[in-house]
Amino acid sequence: MRGWTVGASIALPNLQTPALPGRALNSDLQIRVLGCSGSIAAGSRTTSFLLGQHVLIDAGTGVGDLTLEEMVAIDHVLVTHSHLDHVLSIGLLADSVTRRRHAAGRAPIQVHALPATLAALRAHIFNGVIWPDFTRLPDPAHPVLAFAPLAEGERLTVAGLQVEVLTARHTVPAVGYAVHGPAGAWVFTGDTGRNPALWARLASLDVASLVIETAFRDDELALARLSQHLCPSELRAELAQLRSPVDVYITHIKPGEVDAVMSEIAGQDSPHRIHTLATGQVMHLAQ
Ligand SMILES: [Zn+2]
Ligand SMILES: [Zn+2]
Repeated sequence: MRGWTVGASIALPNLQTPALPGRALNSDLQIRVLGCSGSIAAGSRTTSFLLGQHVLIDAGTGVGDLTLEEMVAIDHVLVTHSHLDHVLSIGLLADSVTRRRHAAGRAPIQVHALPATLAALRAHIFNGVIWPDFTRLPDPAHPVLAFAPLAEGERLTVAGLQVEVLTARHTVPAVGYAVHGPAGAWVFTGDTGRNPALWARLASLDVASLVIETAFRDDELALARLSQHLCPSELRAELAQLRSPVDVYITHIKPGEVDAVMSEIAGQDSPHRIHTLATGQVMHLAQ
């Protein structure tokens, strides 16, 4: 595991959401944080989570840290939205694993996203100009990628995981995801500005841990609103809508801004346990 990047005055993140008493550890889902930065620099990778061995949520630059064997095992990519920092590794992943998956007769990797997101990927990335169309390669009858549309509010079973598609409010069509377990849900907001529909849903959900973005500092409130991201003051207003204290993990902070953003959050006297999400961190969800 790599080292932590932790904001000033913020406690080290809990590595583990406590399992229910008596629950065997091997029933926990491991969620590896491959990337959780708003952009790139040495040590900073963009958004991607590996759930167990077979499911990715988003495919930012963090995917590049996986071994080839780990990449070959990925059968599903759940995409939050079409922005480059969340999708740029889909095509590279496909290229890396095509030969091995094809030789093994493996089914296509399912890329799950809103129809608008899939249309954007097809038009702007897998268009034969930016990248080949891997939904038709290595041959159209046995491609390495398949696009699978989803809808807000839908519940999917993905590699045995119960995944709910949450609403997000961003400059392009976007979603978040909740992964359900018996001790509560692991919730990832995706990129989002203020989002009343999310809190309406979370009010009736047992949230084990919440990964939420805070992309800007408060002095960039106008830019945060324009780009439909959160800043600390808006985060506070959003978190105030949770009915009980939860473990909150802050993601999507830009390189070089982590200490500043987390210091602003630490000054808020929140009832929640707020942590900095770190690349290389492994979260756990009872299954
Ligand atoms: Zn975005
Ligand atoms: Zn983003």
